[in-house]
Amino acid sequence: MLKISDLDEWRTYANQLRSSGATVALVPTMGALHEGHVALVRAAKDRGDVVMLSVFVNPLQFDDSGDLERYPRTPEHDLAVALASGVDCLVEPSLGAMWPRYPAPTPTTVSVGPLGALFEGAQRPGHFDAVATVVTKLFALTGPSRAYFGEKDYQQLAVARQVVRDLALDVEVVGCAVVRDDDGLALSSRNRRLSGEGRSRALALSRALTRARDATGPASTRRALLRETLEESDVEVGYVDVVDPVTLLPCDDGASGVARALVAGVVEGVRLLDNAPLTVGGR
Ligand code: AMP
Repeated sequence: MLKISDLDEWRTYANQLRSSGATVALVPTMGALHEGHVALVRAAKDRGDVVMLSVFVNPLQFDDSGDLERYPRTPEHDLAVALASGVDCLVEPSLGAMWPRYPAPTPTTVSVGPLGALFEGAQRPGHFDAVATVVTKLFALTGPSRAYFGEKDYQQLAVARQVVRDLALDVEVVGCAVVRDDDGLALSSRNRRLSGEGRSRALALSRALTRARDATGPASTRRALLRETLEESDVEVGYVDVVDPVTLLPCDDGASGVARALVAGVVEGVRLLDNAPLTVGGR
């Protein structure tokens, strides 16, 4: 496995891969790798792609400096996981290389409009513009045929799809299902900050999604179930909603078909996200 941190070397290597006829896949991550990230690598390997996995904790997408400082950084572990999962090239650019002007913001940014103002974006202003900007730069450096994102960050996946569509980028965005622990908790690098008790409370997120999925009735009934389940477990509710799976706009009670339930909450100061498909109306 190759390890690259220099941006020129990164671009040159990706160019060489493409010229040799390889299909290059990019798996963008912030490190502290777990089975959720590994699933993205496997999905890419299954399609025969040469996998470049990037690890970059992008400070511009954090609005809370405490959250940024607490974000786990585990380079040795990441190296071992990348090797074991068959990553072909691990790219770990430095902050200085990616954003030479940091802490000043980079003047050129990608702005994603209303989609970026919903849900996570309402709670973290500017977050998705920063995500879109870094993702666009990672795409520019790699020139991947495909980029793999987890449905775990459902809104981020929708943002990546919108950027590719709106800017006509020549990359296929592939979404991969949420990977969960046996107890249902969606894997996240942030889970390691939960105590045992916090972890039990955090299970309310996946439980809420299962209850809402298994219930019948319109979107408003499902929303109420989501909220009730989080509140029962003393999870501080960030938001709950049942939305159109593409636009992420809330479903009204007349809607029928496949929708997406989104939940976000805080347990022990740790922000947790989860989501799942469900069918509304006509069941
Ligand atoms: P992160 O390192 O948290 O920024 O995540 C990097 C990529 O891995 C994103 O596309 C995430 O959606 C994806 N990812 C993180 N956790 C999971 C999970 N539990 N299941 C599937 N994908 C995940």
